[in-house]
Amino acid sequence: MTCCDVSRKIVFHVFCAVPDVITSVVETGVIKRARNIGVLEVRLHDLHRLSPEPHGKIDDYPYGGGPGMVLRVDVVTHALEKVFEREVTQIGKSMPVILLSPQGRGFDQKIANSLLYFPEIVLICGRYEGVDERVREHITTDEISIGDFVLSGGEIAAGMIIDAVARLIPRVVGNLESLKEESFTSGLLEYPQYTRPASFRGWEVPDVLLSGNHARIAEWRRKKALEITRAKRPDLLCEDD
Ligand code: SAM
Repeated sequence: MTCCDVSRKIVFHVFCAVPDVITSVVETGVIKRARNIGVLEVRLHDLHRLSPEPHGKIDDYPYGGGPGMVLRVDVVTHALEKVFEREVTQIGKSMPVILLSPQGRGFDQKIANSLLYFPEIVLICGRYEGVDERVREHITTDEISIGDFVLSGGEIAAGMIIDAVARLIPRVVGNLESLKEESFTSGLLEYPQYTRPASFRGWEVPDVLLSGNHARIAEWRRKKALEITRAKRPDLLCEDD
């Protein structure tokens, strides 16, 4: 699924068992600003509340035995159909339906940028031992991991993705230049940043940054960005860098 223009407003639908984990993320900082200026909406859908099961049950024992509980496919289906008023397999035809999972492709700045083109995005957060495989097979369009480690639930991962996307939406971050020069955007890690005081306990800010010579500063920053990338993330460099 591809779109051609950056969306003027993005609505994230987060389906999860513990919405409180995301609430504070959504109510502070950049995400709050994006919501306030009307370019972002985050709708938290509590799977327990949407569950058709008595007492809001959303999980069950794994077939074949084994430890832990599994998030049920019928619960996820019911929740999505109730919110979108559409048959669940149709939803992914008009928006990304992303399962947060340690088995997914690794989230990065490229994926964050690609999500800017969709006015609506669904994030499904697992819990417990995981999610019934049929969710992956029949409902989701993508599976995303935020790293090679296992969280107890997908909510923190969803919050991270929303944050990374929100700050790329036009007008959210006041100074566009700061986005252009950020780590990963230029293909390099960012150069070092300093602020006042220029001298503190004998720790000095590099003279070039105080020189007022913009060409020299730009050249120094490019050199430092290269040095830092070579030292910390050589995998990001092409052969000719
Ligand atoms: N048993 C699963 C496995 O070994 O792959 C792990 C389940 S984990 C305890 C519960 C949920 O947390 C997952 O279903 C997923 O939604 C979320 N989660 C855990 N680690 C994650 C990661 N690295 N990236 C994204 N989501 C993650």
